[in-house]
Amino acid sequence: MIVSGPATIWHRAPAGEPVSSFDEAYAIVHDALERQALDNPVLAAHLEMLEDPVLSETVRGNVAAGMDALTAMDAARDTIISMFGQIDDEYLAARADDVRDIFGRLRDAMTGGGGASAPYRVSKGCILVAEELFPSDMTGLDFSSLPGILCHKGSVTSHVCIIAHAKGVPIQVGVDVSGIREGDTVSVDDPMMGGTPYIVARVRAAGRKLLVNAGNLDEIKAGIAAGADGIGIFRTEFLFLQRDSMPSGEEQRAMYREALLECLGRPLVLRTLDVGGDKMLPYMPLPPEDNPFLGLRGVRLCLEHPDIFNVQLRAVLDAARDVRELRPDWYEAGSPMRLMLPMVCLVDEIRQVKELLRAIDPDYASLVQVGIMVETPAAALDAAAMAAEAAFFSIGTNDLTQYVMAADRCNPGLARLYDPFSPAVRRAVELTVEAAHAAGIPVGMCGEMASDPRATDLLLAAGLDALSLSQIKLTLE
Ligand code: PEP
Ligand code: MG
Repeated sequence: MIVSGPATIWHRAPAGEPVSSFDEAYAIVHDALERQALDNPVLAAHLEMLEDPVLSETVRGNVAAGMDALTAMDAARDTIISMFGQIDDEYLAARADDVRDIFGRLRDAMTGGGGASAPYRVSKGCILVAEELFPSDMTGLDFSSLPGILCHKGSVTSHVCIIAHAKGVPIQVGVDVSGIREGDTVSVDDPMMGGTPYIVARVRAAGRKLLVNAGNLDEIKAGIAAGADGIGIFRTEFLFLQRDSMPSGEEQRAMYREALLECLGRPLVLRTLDVGGDKMLPYMPLPPEDNPFLGLRGVRLCLEHPDIFNVQLRAVLDAARDVRELRPDWYEAGSPMRLMLPMVCLVDEIRQVKELLRAIDPDYASLVQVGIMVETPAAALDAAAMAAEAAFFSIGTNDLTQYVMAADRCNPGLARLYDPFSPAVRRAVELTVEAAHAAGIPVGMCGEMASDPRATDLLLAAGLDALSLSQIKLTLE
């Protein structure tokens, strides 16, 4: 699919060191907005609002009253929003969102994020052109009026592509965008867009399962309505990315319960929080790493932060229990709630998670089946041992390819190496399937390779029991 339209250029303030005072954060955000406002009238209004003395005086007053800078900013935001809320004018009352945006940027600047990752509005009908985008950048975009995205950095499996595709927005990465100016007519060529009756026909004919990938409740609903046999990966971190604070246990329980109910008794493979790498939570600053994709991400990060992880695990167990009370019939052949751990490298990581689950509820095994993503060479090479602890495998070729081939999944210059069809990646897939079947557990694939019709026959021949397709392939009839 090819779409064309006028370009609008994304400006990003460089990420910096965290700062400790409001004045420093103000200077960073002011600087970023000044540049962005040049060609974006919405952001010009933001700049005016930032420069309004009421804003800085309210924060400074809170600091003088003894609050630390972050608390002072949050309190000032709430005061100013409540002031807007009292004004009987629809336009002014709606400015509360702009205040949230500005304070989001200030918060972001304070924690080292550069002050530009808060919601960003693209003029309607313009193609967003960026050197680099992060998943957190995507949360504030209005996708309904966005015809396409052009981006230099990234590959078809980078998370910005996964999010854009889930929203039905064409995206082309690896494009040299340096010569493009605001308003130039540009085109986006995205071969991944469009349904693939071929995959569906082949998988159905082979009697394997067709699942769908999801990042929120709407996508779960759409997948089940399209006839999927279940959800092959529910990327729960996308729920966390769309907010400015950590969801509470009760909020998570309600979301997971809703998600499971939407599946109508079909399996919901709920992936535990997979942050780190290119997915950072703006409100959970982590020390910078030289190699974030080889760093503290996925299950290793969760095990380092049991305070956060336990909240999620408890919420999943509570949600599974709530649904069992409503629909015990859905649990007769085992719980439809499948808990999937990302980035597993050691069998002991699975055991540690089971220990946490057992401490929350000794009967956890009747509520969730615990499986893993096979997306590291360690998991693939040690798949036989992993299979003894895991109830299922799902192969994550997006990461498996980058780790097997030692080629960053976000680097467009490495497309030749970053190839899931490479012999070594295919061998890793075969090893995983063999080990799963020898142990009698099912093995699916939820990486983007599963959505590539060129791979379908190869994957079915390799013995995969299920393919989980990205939302853009959602023509499952
Ligand atoms: C994968 O790595 O293949 C995968 C499905 O997970 P993510 O793309 O979210 O890293
Ligand atoms: Mg992955």
